[in-house]
Amino acid sequence: APTVRYQSTSDNAKIKAPPMVYIQGEEMTHYATQLLLQQWIVPHFDLSAWETYDLSCKSRDDTNDQVLKDAVDAGKRIGAIFKEPTITPSAIQVQEMGLKKAWGSPNGAMRKGWNGITISRDTIHIEGIQMGYKDQVLFERHAVGGEYGAGWNEVGQGTLLTTYIPDDGSAPFVVDKRDLTDKHNVCVVYHNPYDNVRELAHIFFKRCLEHKVTPYIVTKKTVFKWQEGFWRTMKQVFDDQYKDQFLKAGLLDRSGGDLTHLISDAATMQLIRWTDGGFGMAAHNYDGDMLTDQIAQVHRSPGFITSNLVGKSDDGTLIKEFEASHGTVTDLWNDHLAGKETSLNPLGLVEALMGAMSHAANLQLEKKPNDKSTVQMHAFVENFVDTLRTSIHNTFRYGQGTRDMCGPTGFTTEDFIAKVAWRLNR
Ligand code: NAD
Repeated sequence: APTVRYQSTSDNAKIKAPPMVYIQGEEMTHYATQLLLQQWIVPHFDLSAWETYDLSCKSRDDTNDQVLKDAVDAGKRIGAIFKEPTITPSAIQVQEMGLKKAWGSPNGAMRKGWNGITISRDTIHIEGIQMGYKDQVLFERHAVGGEYGAGWNEVGQGTLLTTYIPDDGSAPFVVDKRDLTDKHNVCVVYHNPYDNVRELAHIFFKRCLEHKVTPYIVTKKTVFKWQEGFWRTMKQVFDDQYKDQFLKAGLLDRSGGDLTHLISDAATMQLIRWTDGGFGMAAHNYDGDMLTDQIAQVHRSPGFITSNLVGKSDDGTLIKEFEASHGTVTDLWNDHLAGKETSLNPLGLVEALMGAMSHAANLQLEKKPNDKSTVQMHAFVENFVDTLRTSIHNTFRYGQGTRDMCGPTGFTTEDFIAKVAWRLNR
């Protein structure tokens, strides 16, 4: 196993961590992240340049959601964001928590606010440990559009018209007209914004080349004809700029020598069969949501999947938000509140934290490439991230991992965090 290179700074002044937006959520993941922050990060960094926004339901309610708007603005300004999982309150939770209303998805607001292109979700691997997928699986989920932004209503019998009114003053036309003959219907209207699919394609194909995996495009375009545009754009970018590189690298051997389209229901089956890994998939927003959860299960735990949003600020610089792919882990939170032992795998959370810290350091270095203290800070962050990752992986390797990996003898949430801290700080 790689050795731990990092030296504790307990006798030196702490390094000032570069500016970053820290978004707090709630429940089990908030509890665990605060614990690991205290034990793994605070001993080595001065965090005064971080901006923290509390996106718990209560805080959003108390501020009439101003805190979400502030967090989106801060993300645009700073460009590096770490986010703990948050709750989008259901009707029942609105009552239980005494909220003024069912606040919308903060993730949706951020993806829109940061011109989200893609949510990249990849399997995390630990050398020497056999995971669900042997080799890397990459996923590119279109960050915007689809069902998440739908307008809807419950209606009776009648006619439903969806009319498009062009901005350029040309004649409006009816996109869809349907007669509703049932007495009870739900009508849903949504769209897929496609302007940034080319950028998504570039991000996806570059990542597949870098990780040496075979790319697949997933839609249900055979039946959902409107999804053809997604495939067409991906294929065009591939043919124009990437096909030769993939052929040279021998990465199209398993897909018949070309970019291959998979129907989403077939993709669900292949995800269970292709446990050797070595492939990437790109899909629309909702398919990506479902398929990446399936990947998480095949790969043993949602704790072994990353989730990084790539967006763009108005001046073209990339905004990157890093989070775990899972939610707030309510079941373990309820166990914790009931005084029972829990075993949360924090790897997805901490990969996100490390990703955000690295990206924050890169942004500072881009701004001041010749500034000595910035160069030093950047090197320190890189080294720290490397060492922290090694400390976590070693803890798993020595059979001291969480129970999703090690079974019933695995460590509890608190013991695992303390063990990694011991390895990191000794
Ligand atoms: P979840 O991802 O929190 O949990 C699903 C299952 O996986 C649970 O059995 C849980 O114990 C297990 N699990 C997840 N992560 C784990 C980890 N790191 N280690 C060990 N086990 C882990 O999903 P859920 O229970 O459907 O949702 C809980 C809450 O999270 C909901 O309120 C939902 O709105 C919210 N949510 C937030 C996000 C986000 O902020 N990005 C994403 C999904 C769900």
